[in-house]
Amino acid sequence: MRGSLMIVRFTSLFALSLLATHISMGSSKGSLLLPCVQGNFEHSQACLEFGQYAEARAYAEMTLITRPVRYTVQGDPSGVVAEAVSIWREVLGDEVTFVQTRPGLADVYITFHPTVTLQGHRVCGLTTFRRGVRAWGNDHYLYNLTGSIELATTAPDGRLMDRRTALNVALHEVGHVLGLDDSPYPGGVMADIDLGSPVTAPSWEECESLNSLRSRAALVLQQAEVSTANLSAFSR
Ligand SMILES: [Zn+2]
Repeated sequence: MRGSLMIVRFTSLFALSLLATHISMGSSKGSLLLPCVQGNFEHSQACLEFGQYAEARAYAEMTLITRPVRYTVQGDPSGVVAEAVSIWREVLGDEVTFVQTRPGLADVYITFHPTVTLQGHRVCGLTTFRRGVRAWGNDHYLYNLTGSIELATTAPDGRLMDRRTALNVALHEVGHVLGLDDSPYPGGVMADIDLGSPVTAPSWEECESLNSLRSRAALVLQQAEVSTANLSAFSR
């Protein structure tokens, strides 16, 4: 889509994604980024190209998650959510901020359950989120990122989930919120979970996928800001 003349309108259209952590079953996919996240970034590039700077900014900001992610956790006796959030923060060079808040003020609700199911099948975790940009009046755009994460306290095989596995699942689900898709490559947190051998740190490829998207989005944001400033200087 990059460089194409067609602009796909995502504005005011919220992509709802439902993603589950399955146990290892094997799959085959290419990109490590969620298609909607990649699409939103490409939309920011297209907007920039077509001089729609305010909209380009909002889509780039959404890709970068420039505002703090306010989240609330119900449960988490072993602190895996706090640890997962801090691991991802470190990966992203502290550029995405997670702030724990109270229910009612949160963008992301995280809850623990004895079992979590998707379409009748037990899964380790389930993330539902919405990302979207809304137009407000004359050339004002604001992105929105909300969602919920359900984490199971027992594995699909019925056994109580140990801490390392629970951390793997929490890292996986927060990874979805940050823009990563399920990955076919074992050894990363976004791969199907191997209950016998949990992964407690994102792989280099996972970190690189996010960080490379982020640097490209930061460039779009910067160019859109410069162009807006030039435009207002010109129209003065
Ligand atoms: Zn997943």
